[in-house]
Amino acid sequence: MALQRVLVSLARRSFSTASTTSPMSRLFANTDYTPNPLEHASGIEKKQLIAELAGNDDPFDVSVVKRGACTKDQPQVVLSCNHERLVGCICEEDSESVVWMWLRQNESKRCACGYWFKLQKKEPL
Ligand SMILES: [Zn+2]
Repeated sequence: MALQRVLVSLARRSFSTASTTSPMSRLFANTDYTPNPLEHASGIEKKQLIAELAGNDDPFDVSVVKRGACTKDQPQVVLSCNHERLVGCICEEDSESVVWMWLRQNESKRCACGYWFKLQKKEPL
């Protein structure tokens, strides 16, 4: 019985000693530390964070673009680093549906509403 108490006491002592000196406990004990998401991000998320820090809020060109002239001579340019991209056209301002079409590199395409679009090469991030 006495040996059991000694072992439990040693286990508690070693557990409490280990928990106060481990890197994780020091990390949580330091309340001034604020993790930087850039340090933990990797891959495409890290590229997005770096682009946002550089002032580019839409690094992958996914935001809605207001159409320009959209004629055959001046088509709406859509950027992509891929060979093709799915593009949606809201044909009329009060339309409740989107007409989707695939655009291919350096190929102009006309939507059913008459607006022209063209996919242009963009260098990847
Ligand atoms: Zn359209």
